[in-house]
Amino acid sequence: MLEKVILVICDGLGDRPIKDLGNLTPLEAAKTPNMDKLASESECGMMYSLGRGCVPGSDTSHLNILGYDYREYYSGRGTIEVTGVGMKLKEGDVALRGNFSTVDENFIIKDRRAGRIRGVAPLAQALDGIEIDGVTFFVKPGTGHRAAIIMRGKGLSSAIIDADPHKPDVPVREVTPLDESIEAKHTARILNVFLKKAWEILQKHPLNEERRKKGELLANYLLVRGAGQYKEVPCFKERYAFSGCCIAGGGLYKGVAAYLGMDVIDVPGATGLPDTDIEAKFRAAISNLKKYDFVFVHVKAADSFGEDGNFRGKKEFIEKIDHAARLFHETSENTLLIITGDHSTPCALKSHSGDPIPIIFRGTGVRVDKVAAFNERDCTCGGLGIITGIDIMPQVLNLFGKLPLTGA
Ligand code: ZN
Repeated sequence: MLEKVILVICDGLGDRPIKDLGNLTPLEAAKTPNMDKLASESECGMMYSLGRGCVPGSDTSHLNILGYDYREYYSGRGTIEVTGVGMKLKEGDVALRGNFSTVDENFIIKDRRAGRIRGVAPLAQALDGIEIDGVTFFVKPGTGHRAAIIMRGKGLSSAIIDADPHKPDVPVREVTPLDESIEAKHTARILNVFLKKAWEILQKHPLNEERRKKGELLANYLLVRGAGQYKEVPCFKERYAFSGCCIAGGGLYKGVAAYLGMDVIDVPGATGLPDTDIEAKFRAAISNLKKYDFVFVHVKAADSFGEDGNFRGKKEFIEKIDHAARLFHETSENTLLIITGDHSTPCALKSHSGDPIPIIFRGTGVRVDKVAAFNERDCTCGGLGIITGIDIMPQVLNLFGKLPLTGA
């Protein structure tokens, strides 16, 4: 009888055939004896996380995979970012994400990440709590050069453009409303005043004085983007009757989990980078089954290699995942193991694509099919067929015998 679930999401796992790999994908070219064995004990298939014809973002795809239709529950990256750093949103709030960045005296962006500055907490603190015309700004540091921002006050809207033009050597954008509403105009005006004030404060901040002396890039502008508004989201436990936790290195994935009310477990060595300790994460996933019913583990770096076009790096990283996946051979009979990705990140494109990704379900009651390898082509022959991300949780509930009867 199934009692527990481990869901492993390998970010950007899927790819396309690569000539230099003998027309194999990095996942096909990688030696993956452990995942192949798991696939041979599984029901396999292919998954479009958002549906055919969509290029998924990591945030929307994770929402769908965890059973929250992104069309209903996604409200901008900002909301996920602020939740991920532990901030609590209230009704009416607007959430933004931002970078501490470098601008010159004409507000031309010199570096969108201020030389990838780290330790931005004192800068965030200097901006935290500023009030402009009845709107309070809460600012907390994110990972690296990032910040999370909440605007709290009456009559706010997330219908505003990004101040971040997403490239250097151009001026910062003035925030403008995306619709004709009074709320959007009001929000854009207040945010512009805040960003100007933030610049004045950051320009004179002791940390920047020090950087100026050392000849380092100043972190003198807060480039904001991804405005989102508070949305009421039913928590994972209420919705699925599973107590859930998340093991991830990257802030976005912790944010998605926290947004759905899952606990976020910090595992030493989990960095979200190629040097991440995958074994430590998988071990933590297995040990947390004692406390939780549903453990979501995220592994990031295959996606980063895809975005860099580094197919050899991607292949080698997949082999690292596979080596750690040997730990799952020992999971007990009561555990349903799901391994998949959130989207494809083909090395040839250096970006996400709409190609589906392999998925396997392994556990008691699963109709094991004839697929014996975990990759993009073998899994097309599996019993699950082609599914979408939002089909996963109903299939989990089905295997647990928890789906309600339709009809009589
Ligand atoms: Zn992703």
